[in-house]
Amino acid sequence: MKALCYNSVKDLRVENVPDPEIISPKDMIVRVTLSSVCGSDLHIINGFIPTVKAGDVLGHEFMGEVVETGRDVRKFVKGDRVVVASVIACGECHYCNEQSFSLCDNTNPNAYIPEKLYGDTMAGIFGYTHAFGGYAGSHAQYIRVPFADNGAFKVPEGLQDDSVIFCSDAFPTGYMAADMANIKPGSVVAVWGAGGVGQMAMQSAWLMGAERVIAIDREQYRLGVAKEKSKAETLNFTEVEILEALKDLTGGRGPDCCIDAVGMEASGSGFGYAYDKAKQWARIENDRPLVLRDAIMACRKGGTVSIVGVYSGFVDKIPMGAAMNKALNFRMGQMHGPKYIPKLLEHVQNGEVDPSFLVTHKMGLDQGQQGYDMFTKKEDNCMRVVFDP
Ligand code: NAD
Ligand code: ZN
Repeated sequence: MKALCYNSVKDLRVENVPDPEIISPKDMIVRVTLSSVCGSDLHIINGFIPTVKAGDVLGHEFMGEVVETGRDVRKFVKGDRVVVASVIACGECHYCNEQSFSLCDNTNPNAYIPEKLYGDTMAGIFGYTHAFGGYAGSHAQYIRVPFADNGAFKVPEGLQDDSVIFCSDAFPTGYMAADMANIKPGSVVAVWGAGGVGQMAMQSAWLMGAERVIAIDREQYRLGVAKEKSKAETLNFTEVEILEALKDLTGGRGPDCCIDAVGMEASGSGFGYAYDKAKQWARIENDRPLVLRDAIMACRKGGTVSIVGVYSGFVDKIPMGAAMNKALNFRMGQMHGPKYIPKLLEHVQNGEVDPSFLVTHKMGLDQGQQGYDMFTKKEDNCMRVVFDP
């Protein structure tokens, strides 16, 4: 079958790879009907995650049609239309039992990066390198879905693929960001990053009773989408001083909830630097504007900083004194997809949220490199490119 594979930094290739096969009774095989780019892929493609190998199939946000089920799969039969969580979890371990699916003990036992770099192992993720289990990704015609009963969900009748695909990753991530942010009726919520994840965090904030939502980005077209589709007030950080602007907008107090939907590059992290050169971790100094630092400095006393932008390695110069003395709450994590997906499908079905506005470009796998180039450079008003393999 055809698949879009990593070759080297910023170099992707369409290759012929073997069709996936059932290897455990809980697996199923899905014919991919749509597979999306995600900001998380950029950390890999731009060289911040060296646990990728040439030939790895990328992609983790997808949906499709079941073509084969292992003998222990109970929820699905051939022909079912499904959307699949990007995180792979067994559904049975200690962490899965508390719905912390991205912490699953059983789907990434041989992490290529040893625990000492992360402190522990975490769950596998489709198409997310050998630090996350080395599972083949969804930018392919077919994909093996392990622990299918836990990670896949039937698509309700009548919903278009474009409205459903983001229930795989961007919507549950944005929803979890809002969930962790401790939003209450009346809260002022600031969201750094107006990409797919940030937009879904904004939409989720409204569902949770936010009174105001403020989007921060540099891309004016994305701020335009935040205003139009996600009903946010907007701040362009290349035009205003964010800390002052947020104080001004909140009567000097600061937002109650600050969400980081940007991640490591903007905060100077990524283990590429140190790991490549010395094969070990090292302190990385930098003075770039840190989303994390701004979120902490902006947040009101006693407020919450919620982090779903992805980090690897170290981030330096975090104002712990401000965090301590303002008694801030911190929440973060890779998203626990299966915890949220059923509820999110209901929100889509009810018409409360329609994530299809994130689809700005649709193309074949053959145009994968162009698609990612456009998404990386934020060209042509690109929000998300989806591939139809
Ligand atoms: P994206 O690239 O589409 O959007 C990121 C946005 O951040 C861009 O619009 C960019 O202009 C903006 N940005 C860059 N620097 C900024 C700064 N200093 N301040 C404010 N905005 C800034 O990516 P996405 O798909 O929306 O993903 C966003 C983040 O969420 C990524 O780090 C991704 O890895 C992460 N993510 C996490 C999970 C999870 O499970 N926790 C899942 C999916 C994605
Ligand atoms: Zn588990």
